Amino acid sequence: MDADVAIVGVGSVGSMAAWQLSKKGISVLGFEQYGIGHDRSAAGGESRLFRTAYMEGSEYVPLLQESKILWEQLEKESGSSLLTLNGGLMIGEAESKVMSAILKSINDFDLAHERLTGDQARKIYPQFNIFNDDLVILDKNAGFIRPELAVVSATQQAIENGAKIKRYTKVDSISSDEKGVNIIAEDSSYKVRKLIVTTGAWTWKLLPFLKEQVIARRLLLTWFTPKDISKVTPDKLPIFARMRDNFRLTGAPTLDGSMVKASYTKDPQFVEEPFNLYRDVYPEELKQISESVEALLPGLHPDPVRASAYMDAYTPDNHAIVGELPNMSNVMIATGFSGHGFKLSPVIGKIISDICTDGKTDSDIHHLTPRRFNPYT
Ligand SMILES: Cc1cc2nc3c(=O)[nH]c(=O)nc-3n(C[C@H](O)[C@H](O)[C@H](O)COP(=O)(O)OP(=O)(O)OC[C@H]3O[C@@H](n4cnc5c(N)ncnc54)[C@H](O)[C@@H]3O)c2cc1C
Repeated sequence: MDADVAIVGVGSVGSMAAWQLSKKGISVLGFEQYGIGHDRSAAGGESRLFRTAYMEGSEYVPLLQESKILWEQLEKESGSSLLTLNGGLMIGEAESKVMSAILKSINDFDLAHERLTGDQARKIYPQFNIFNDDLVILDKNAGFIRPELAVVSATQQAIENGAKIKRYTKVDSISSDEKGVNIIAEDSSYKVRKLIVTTGAWTWKLLPFLKEQVIARRLLLTWFTPKDISKVTPDKLPIFARMRDNFRLTGAPTLDGSMVKASYTKDPQFVEEPFNLYRDVYPEELKQISESVEALLPGLHPDPVRASAYMDAYTPDNHAIVGELPNMSNVMIATGFSGHGFKLSPVIGKIISDICTDGKTDSDIHHLTPRRFNPYT
């Protein structure tokens, strides 16, 4: 055996799984087709939002609370500052489904928050154009994470605990039986007891039967300069999610307080072939985001000064797939994080490592079970 557990894809979630398994003294062999912390997939672009009042569903709140503890643990072990909790403003039409879901998660778990009237919000946060029908919630357990540093820190901790990581090594195929898993990567073969697949947007390339369930989408990040630099430092500007009609504008101040990063999402952009992600930007997409920034964030110069494209893997119901693969012995999967998985990556790393070593997890992940889809025959 080359290791107890192999991990294919040492990105956001794979790095956390390697960290967690290595802490248990399990021998780990990780494969990453690029370098660690690379910017070709889901973990690039300097920051990821952390939110606890969760529009994606109350069932995530216990996972988010555990994830926060694990982020702090990783900070302590690695000596890197990874999570800044500067609060999060959720702004959307009071009657909308999204705002109702946020309020439900707050009520279900008694989450620390402030509910602001339009006038209060305009006074405290003049950076935003707040409409009369908007509800404004300040999530006190929100902020931003440094994604590249997080992936590198978790991987480094795993290596220090004894994990072996093969960089620039693409896994081409896997096969498994009750005795273990065979891996073919760059013309070499490896044998391990168990395998965790954390391949994000590339998942169907390795597991073609998941092609309809795990679909890559292109997501754009853009950076804007402020009209008044004193108003966009992280202590003045919380992270934000601005929901309006059929689009969403989310963002965060940059750590040095000189810019605001924003992401505009409307229609999904499917990526047929993950190796051919279009990484440049079309002028019409910049125009669209510029118009929404002009309307909603009047404190910013509306033309983005920087833009770049990334991708994530989406499932049909926008919940990830986490657990044992029903059709492959000894193979576990954690993928399809549908645009909101980075904040969860430490807890998912722990959950999948517990499933791997103990056959179960104490966390409630019924909404993430692979068995809710049926491509496994
Ligand atoms: C622009 C953007 C903004 C986002 N904003 C947020 C946010 O604010 N908050 C939040 O929580 N989430 C956010 N997300 C979502 C979050 O970043 C992702 O859900 C999460 O990073 C996915 O992690 P992953 O491990 O599944 O994928 P990745 O981090 O992409 O890791 C997959 C890894 O597998 C490797 N790999 C694939 N196939 C192979 C193979 N055959 N052999 C070897 N290696 C392989 C890849 O190279 C990659 O490194 C955002 C995503 C994007 C793209």
